[in-house]
Amino acid sequence: MAEPKKRMSKSRTASRRGQNIKVKLAGVSICSKCKSPKISHQVCKVCGTYNGRQMKKPGIASGKVKTKTK
Ligand SMILES: [Zn+2]
Repeated sequence: MAEPKKRMSKSRTASRRGQNIKVKLAGVSICSKCKSPKISHQVCKVCGTYNGRQMKKPGIASGKVKTKTK
């Protein structure tokens, strides 16, 4: 069975894992109204706006809310 030739250093392991964290943050954008980080294509949890429109009351951080309105 294959064995690693040298032990991998802590910093080398941490730097490799650090690349994966950047991928997780790819879906996060900044709200255009309150400038706080929010999940893209979803209503801002701080001010409750989406695409410049008020969708819900600000300050209430609830779960997933559908942005479609008729
Ligand atoms: Zn906002």
